[in-house]
Amino acid sequence: MLLNGIYLKERWLTVSEERLREAIDTLKDSGVRITPQRHAVLEYLLNAMVHPTADEIYKALEGKFPNMSVATVYNNLRVLKEIGLVRELTYGDSSSRFDCNTSDHYHIICEACGKIVDFHYPSLDEVESLAEQVTGFDVSHHRLEVYGKCDGCQKLPAQKH
Ligand SMILES: [Zn+2]
Ligand SMILES: [Zn+2]
Repeated sequence: MLLNGIYLKERWLTVSEERLREAIDTLKDSGVRITPQRHAVLEYLLNAMVHPTADEIYKALEGKFPNMSVATVYNNLRVLKEIGLVRELTYGDSSSRFDCNTSDHYHIICEACGKIVDFHYPSLDEVESLAEQVTGFDVSHHRLEVYGKCDGCQKLPAQKH
């Protein structure tokens, strides 16, 4: 049991380390300077496998970089976004979330705690071509979100209002 746990943990670390190495290579290829903070932001995003806000990233890293500000985190995220390593998910309330999984995937969002989880489903390309035909728009992308209550929140006793 214990051995199995250690094995899984090491495997997980290896996978994210490989992704980090690839991401660093992409940074180098783009001629972007790799500062310790930038490295840390990227590493945090890859390891967290969640969709944190800039504030959450800041809070997770401020112990390691006492001189870092939220603005620095935003700046680094903007750079990572520009070279396509990070995707920004805006929700119209200024609390953007950041996703380092840039492969095609959809999101399911918990209405109770706000958690965002990735799931894979064949890309709905026909929606894009239909939208183009019907509206004459030049479609760039689409976003699909599914809402509900996550496993953890379903187990909590119902909130009384
Ligand atoms: Zn939840
Ligand atoms: Zn995602």
